[in-house]
Amino acid sequence: MKMKIANEYLNGLMERVIARDPGEPEFHQAVHEVLTSLVPVVNERPELIKKGVMDSLVEPERFVSFRVPWEDDQGVVHVNRGYRVQFNSAIGPYKGGLRFHPSVNESIVKFLGFEQTFKNCLTGLPIGGGKGGSDFNPRNKSDSEVMRFCQSFMNEMYKYIGPDMDVPAGDIGVGGREIGYLFGQYKRITTQFQGALTGKGLSFGGSLVRKEATGYGLCYFADNMVKDAGRSFEGTTVLVSGSGNVAIYACEKATQLGGKVVAMSDSDGFVYDADGIDLDLIKQIKEVERKRISEYAQRKPSAQYTEGCAKIWNIPCGIALPCATQNELDEQAAKALIANGCFAVAEGANMPCTPEAVEALQAAGILFAPAKASNCGGVGVSALEMTQNSIRLSWSFEEVDNRLRDIMSNAYHSAAEAAARYGMAGNLAAGANIASFLKISDAMLAQGLV
Ligand code: NDP
Repeated sequence: MKMKIANEYLNGLMERVIARDPGEPEFHQAVHEVLTSLVPVVNERPELIKKGVMDSLVEPERFVSFRVPWEDDQGVVHVNRGYRVQFNSAIGPYKGGLRFHPSVNESIVKFLGFEQTFKNCLTGLPIGGGKGGSDFNPRNKSDSEVMRFCQSFMNEMYKYIGPDMDVPAGDIGVGGREIGYLFGQYKRITTQFQGALTGKGLSFGGSLVRKEATGYGLCYFADNMVKDAGRSFEGTTVLVSGSGNVAIYACEKATQLGGKVVAMSDSDGFVYDADGIDLDLIKQIKEVERKRISEYAQRKPSAQYTEGCAKIWNIPCGIALPCATQNELDEQAAKALIANGCFAVAEGANMPCTPEAVEALQAAGILFAPAKASNCGGVGVSALEMTQNSIRLSWSFEEVDNRLRDIMSNAYHSAAEAAARYGMAGNLAAGANIASFLKISDAMLAQGLV
């Protein structure tokens, strides 16, 4: 099913991962990508195999799944499944978002938790990797239904989290509203006002820039990458898929950096606006009214709506920012981008490009920023929220934004330098994996964890 990994031990490990949990394709995809890029490191340091680091790395420290019963507005009881994976705590307490989406299952949660471990390390801050969520679909639910679901979810999850243990945040389907309900229930159960969740409202321990952090951070990372290649956002046409938290603030920052965003999407379709996306209108439709992106074309005469989101990548652009979900940009889409003159793709969503797409982009010499590095700004500012909660202070927007810029610049340079050191200059995907792995594996060995 997948390309052989050029190291006998790692190839065998990959086969064991697949045999142990055969129904987890997204997790296999994420592990395969990482193990492939670690070949030169493991060849140089064979003791990592002997001491069990590689085997431990692909097995979560803990995985809990639980029942979440809740009542809808008509009094009908529904039962969803909740998850929390605590993947790796070698360098700090587990940290990673919660996703509420019908597609959520063991495979998705494990792939996200595995990726999160590497991503968190790249921020340079002391946070381990975790992830969680539920197959609950918040779409078309009332605020009261969402609140009852969040309360029931927390009735179980509170046992596994805490400011020095595991600190969840948002992800797809979990924004400020959900974090508020989850935090309220955590406080009620534990009688503790603690930073056990991030992405909180500003009036109860949230951080400025958290809402903007992933999208802004993505553009800061991409800006470093394109500038190193003598290019820039200035005057460049930009595509952004999705219209959720990451997409909206990627659009905002790309525009501030001089780019022109001409398209955005949701899971039903995309809008193309040759005049440039009117972000205030998108925010009104998506953040305030919680409606579909097709509304944009109804209210903006210069925009066209197309049903189905895959064809967004056929629009000519210089920079593409996939910010919706995993595997949304496939080989065909990558070829369309290449043919239309795209020079950079930076991943805002987690694993939005398929392995075939990444291969095609890299082979064509397109600058490629992998999610683990380019979207680490969200968790980076979450860690800054934890810091502010611990010291009971709130930093200004400018202070947090400056720290975010530094985090993204450091993440870019760490990935670029690690890639160059192992003979893969320019391959930021490999560099990001290697830079994080070296730090995590040293911490694991030092703690005698393996
Ligand atoms: P949101 O729920 O705010 O937005 C998700 C967007 O993607 C929506 O426009 C949604 O459309 C669209 N989408 C979701 N599923 C699909 C699908 N199967 N096909 C097409 N479009 C889809 O989530 P976020 O913006 O928070 O997250 C987006 C991505 O970024 C995810 O991969 C997440 O893991 C990643 N990420 C998020 C971080 C954060 O801080 N929020 C941090 C790091 C990574 P619709 O409304 O129709 O469902």
